[in-house]
Amino acid sequence: VKEQGRDGWHFFNAGLEEKVRKKLSISNGLRLAIERRELSVRFQPIVDALGTRIVGAEMLLRWHPAEGPISPAVFIPIAEMTGSIVPIGAWVFAQACQAEAEWRRRWGERAPAYISVNVSARQLNEKNLLDEVKDTIATHASDPARILLEITETALMADIDTNLRMLRGLADLGFRVAIDDFGTGYSSLAQLTKLPVNVLKIDKAFIDGIAHRPESRAVVKAVIGLGRALGLKMIAEGVENPAQLLELRNFGCDFVQGYLFYRPLEKNQFIDAVEQSFET
Ligand code: C2E
Ligand code: CA
Ligand code: CA
Ligand code: CA
Repeated sequence: VKEQGRDGWHFFNAGLEEKVRKKLSISNGLRLAIERRELSVRFQPIVDALGTRIVGAEMLLRWHPAEGPISPAVFIPIAEMTGSIVPIGAWVFAQACQAEAEWRRRWGERAPAYISVNVSARQLNEKNLLDEVKDTIATHASDPARILLEITETALMADIDTNLRMLRGLADLGFRVAIDDFGTGYSSLAQLTKLPVNVLKIDKAFIDGIAHRPESRAVVKAVIGLGRALGLKMIAEGVENPAQLLELRNFGCDFVQGYLFYRPLEKNQFIDAVEQSFET
């Protein structure tokens, strides 16, 4: 078939083949990533609206195969498609349980209140998720009330009935629940009040424009008002400059996360950051 096209067609086809090959190699690599010990996690601090106290951290997955690191924005969607996200998600969840228990041993009362962990909708479809999660909690002696499960609004709403059932089960075990990338999907008020949700994370896309785009400003203001009315806590993600922080503070946002404060940190850097924040 390759002789039939014009040059443009050749280019397109070669690019496509290359993309498919790359995806295949990523999906094969992901299957072995845990046993090859190629996964690690970073901790991005979440701070109060004054930007001084570290109240928690979001755990972010990193993959570094022999060929060089690959962004989670690339490999997570592939892992979700192939199902590798199920064992990988369980591995990440165990890291979060371990970190939570370690923080309390290390810092006691002063430990950050939450560790956030991303949960893919695919994991919520696993029949035995609740039992596995219970086991992991018990193994690490961790406190589910200090673990915040982040699930994206789009994934949540795609199969609201199944997800709602599983989230209720998790909430009954004591976990906290956050809707991630809030504002990018189409939750209705009625749905929101039915969900066992504690936190809304406002998507970076809106924070980007908060100081200069009236539309973004309006969305952020409305989301914070909505969260307030429902008794939820709000976290703004991707805060990069002081102007954004000022607006968020004026609107009454509870917590912020972004490069203005910290990048995702290695475990030891995170420990140092928390201990420094005790001194301020
Ligand atoms: P997310 O859950 O929305 O996570 C926030 C992303 O924004 C992270 O990218 C973080 O490093 C980045 N970020 C934080 N502050 C700033 C900022 O001020 N400016 C900019 N430009 N970026 C900022 P990361 O670590 O590359 O992760 C990308 C996405 O991959 C995450 O988006 C999440 O959807 C997914 N992901 C990461 N780890 C996991 C995991 O363990 N499980 C699952 N299911 N998904 C994960
Ligand atoms: Ca997240
Ligand atoms: Ca997010
Ligand atoms: Ca986001």
